Amino acid sequence: MDTDVFAAHESNVRRYGRSFPTVFTKALGATIWDEAGKSYIDFLVGSGALNYGHNNANIVAPGIDYLAGGNILLSLDMNTVAKREFIEVFVDSILKPRGLSYKIQFPGPTGTNANEAALALARKYTGRSSVMAFTNAFHGMSLGSLAVSGSASTRNLGGVPRHDVIRVPYDGYPNGAFDSASYIDYVLGDPGSGIEKPAAIILETIQAEGGMNSASAGWLAEIQRICRKHSVILIVDDIQAGAGRTGEFFSFEFARIEPDIVCLSKSLSGSGNPLSIVLIRPEIDIWNPGEHSGTFRGNNLAFVTAGAMCKMWSERQFTASVERTAVKLQTHLDRLVAKYPYLIEQKRGRGLMAGLKFRSHLVVGRVHDIAFENGLLIESSGPNRDVIKVLPPITITDDELDRGIAILDQALKEQANGNCPSISSASNLASCDQRADRLNQHCGNHLSPER
Ligand code: PLP
Repeated sequence: MDTDVFAAHESNVRRYGRSFPTVFTKALGATIWDEAGKSYIDFLVGSGALNYGHNNANIVAPGIDYLAGGNILLSLDMNTVAKREFIEVFVDSILKPRGLSYKIQFPGPTGTNANEAALALARKYTGRSSVMAFTNAFHGMSLGSLAVSGSASTRNLGGVPRHDVIRVPYDGYPNGAFDSASYIDYVLGDPGSGIEKPAAIILETIQAEGGMNSASAGWLAEIQRICRKHSVILIVDDIQAGAGRTGEFFSFEFARIEPDIVCLSKSLSGSGNPLSIVLIRPEIDIWNPGEHSGTFRGNNLAFVTAGAMCKMWSERQFTASVERTAVKLQTHLDRLVAKYPYLIEQKRGRGLMAGLKFRSHLVVGRVHDIAFENGLLIESSGPNRDVIKVLPPITITDDELDRGIAILDQALKEQANGNCPSISSASNLASCDQRADRLNQHCGNHLSPER
């Protein structure tokens, strides 16, 4: 496989091209092929940007017609037929059935563009400068989003100080023992806390990059109550968890909350085409015309495919199939956790936004590599990169899901049973923890800690 051109000319920053050292060419559903014709099951799906699989016919076909029809492709924020139809279908198929009423802002096309717009609007609306953000959060790579992200290496990118962020513990951080919602409520109400009232609290309902930590419904409802009590804007960054990933369209539906601002991107176009929106409670929409802008706000091809995706949510057959697939995935993962307790500490996430927390990132690295060799794409996350993200398309077929899980199972088995020559004797060790330690110790010799 000729990868020389990437090594020679692409920036050193490239990552996935290194962790999957092949050259991909075609893709359909949950399957992706490299140029040698080898197929892989895709549990990475563009880091959550391809929830509906690759080249989903229901979504891509209207896009092909649109492209072939000489229709407008880029329109800034001018009115176009494609944009009108997208807004209509988004309101009718997504917002109205959920009893939601939001104004829709079209920022630039990436997730971080949406978050920047949301943060700027919250600051403008409240006249306050600070924002409360959570441990292990990830919100994107522009300065405002970096500032509210948790990871030290992410926050230090950009080389300028980042002010005006109050870091607070996420649900369950650390070690499940701390009631972070009560803490936030208390410090916001206490004039002696030294914490000034923020413009907004920004959160992910599941922290994908942060290690698939999921917030409970009760905690989310409590954070909303606290925001309302203290007149703080609640921003839900639903960029990775939204657009169907958890099995519901919005990841916060299960908690019955109604955030003030919601950011969507990644899978919103249904096709992998870049598209973001910021949903804004109408009274907060105090933007002046043109005050916030961006060249690529009018990706009409993405409007067309996004509209086709949204229509699918009106079909009971579709939503039932997503629910069923989520249950099937969770059952598979429960089985793996029970089978490999000395490797896997716990299952994480919710619905089809799932992860496996391992006892060692070294094992994760090896499992990733074996899985890739055997035809499965998975990626790690978490501050210690010890969580495997399991993100199949929400439209994956049973057969593809079973095959992907079988490859993961085989990789775990190889890791557990002596792919590393010194560890077969580990099976004699009394406890799972001892066995995991022993595995880690030996495998550490040939695994790189950084992925
Ligand atoms: N917010 C969340 C929760 C994300 O997972 C990501 C990307 O992974 C972003 C924001 C940033 O999105 P983008 O990379 O499109 O800017």
